[in-house]
Amino acid sequence: MQNIVIAIDGTSASGKSTNAKLVAQALGYVYVDTGAMYRTLAWYCLQHGVDIHNVRSVAAVCRRWKTRLTCVDSQVRLLVDGYFPEKEIRTVETSAAVPHVAAVPKVRDWMKRKQRECVQFGNLVMEGRDIGTNVFPETNFKFYLDASLAERTRRRVADGVQEDLARRDRRDSQRAAAPLMIPLGAVVVNNSGQTPAETSELILNEIQRRLAASDAPT
Ligand code: C5P
Repeated sequence: MQNIVIAIDGTSASGKSTNAKLVAQALGYVYVDTGAMYRTLAWYCLQHGVDIHNVRSVAAVCRRWKTRLTCVDSQVRLLVDGYFPEKEIRTVETSAAVPHVAAVPKVRDWMKRKQRECVQFGNLVMEGRDIGTNVFPETNFKFYLDASLAERTRRRVADGVQEDLARRDRRDSQRAAAPLMIPLGAVVVNNSGQTPAETSELILNEIQRRLAASDAPT
């Protein structure tokens, strides 16, 4: 039997990570944060003095860096030189750099390949910007999360992060390669007035409904 992939896409700070983790826990699936993979590349470029605005240089990093996928506590990690830069990838500098490396077509090809390899770890809840449109377009389980800019900014400030989210979303939506957009057939959830418990319950109910429908005799 093929593994199931739940795709959760959406804008920055729209609750993708929180809800994807809750859904993965409830179902006993493996959680994959694809943003962390792009952040790891951006961090690596900054560390090694690679010009993040130079498409060729960034693409060359993907050809030569030494990476490995692992699964720890039901969460996938991309290790580089055997190291998982958990804290480093969350800095303001990395956040500002990541949309530039994420816009490089060769980077997106590399990431897509790695992200599809994650099915080796089991059924997945994968969050990102292009999972339902580009990485696993064949999945029947697609969700798109959003919330008002004011609410998303408030969430980031509560986490102690000051960031121009609108600017990052604009870059992610306007790039030519696999831009952020609502996948065809996705359930769109605006969770501005919702708690994570409410949003994740809504997602879980929809997954159960679709799973039951796919089991039903035709
Ligand atoms: O989700 P997170 O905020 O960690 O993502 C960081 C950045 O990584 C995004 O703003 C986007 O530029 C890039 N990204 C992407 N495609 C994905 C996941 C993240 O382009 N599937």
